Amino acid sequence: MASTTPSVSIARATAERTAELHESLAEIRARVQQTAVVTEPTLVAVSKYKPAADVLACFEAGQLDFGENYVQELVEKASQLSPDIRWHFIGTLQSNKAKTLASIPNLYAVQTINSIKAATALNKALPEDRPSLLNVLIQVNTSGESNKSGIPPLSPTSSSPDLVELAQHIITQCPRLHLQGLMTIGSLVESLASDEKENEDFETLKTTRDTLQTHLASQGLSGEGGKWGKDGKLVLSMGMSSDFVAALQAGSDIVRVGTGIFGSRPKKETS
Ligand SMILES: *Cc1c(COP(=O)(O)O)cnc(C)c1O
Repeated sequence: MASTTPSVSIARATAERTAELHESLAEIRARVQQTAVVTEPTLVAVSKYKPAADVLACFEAGQLDFGENYVQELVEKASQLSPDIRWHFIGTLQSNKAKTLASIPNLYAVQTINSIKAATALNKALPEDRPSLLNVLIQVNTSGESNKSGIPPLSPTSSSPDLVELAQHIITQCPRLHLQGLMTIGSLVESLASDEKENEDFETLKTTRDTLQTHLASQGLSGEGGKWGKDGKLVLSMGMSSDFVAALQAGSDIVRVGTGIFGSRPKKETS
């Protein structure tokens, strides 16, 4: 990895912290590999509030996908760390931050698109000479909780047009974006009390995906031509530290694990 030396040298984690991170990362990875029912699950290591030194330690153990919730924190870390890292933005996207976010060359995906306005702003903000399309996922509010952002889910019997419209808009009007799939946070607050509730959210996201794919196909927008998804299918990003095993069993393609790798965080975040 000699060619990927970061442009700024950063403090390194202590030997003890490095060993601790390598151990928890290896354990989570093993569980992801053992549990996943999809062929190539992606583990996104969620490093919000954690120092760049922690990210570097995981990167050196072969971890490439990292998730961040705050644009400024992401910009700072991205400038200090290897360009080979694939950054996933998983926080609330404000249209006025789209430009800053889009300026990160190795931004790999934005998982939290929840409006036509945000998609348009992001598409417009991306540099013209960006070598690849930016992956985006639409955030779906599967639990219906008012404190969660996202578009209402779809089912074969529901007629909510928002999600179909947003997906069509991304595919047909945002040439620098690639609609990769759907993301949900699920009802974490209930997760300690009831596994059933979590599984309900995972099932809701799957049904939403299947229904959306049917709608897109009926509009002549097939995924086979590479216009959206991966291998003709929209991918699912669901599962966090407390529920990633259940999410993988339910068919998740992308899990986002923070605490399970990096340890606990200060408790001030809201998303
Ligand atoms: C913080 C966060 C995560 C990681 O949560 P953990 O419980 O620490 O694994 C995953 N997804 C989103 C959207 C987050 O904000």
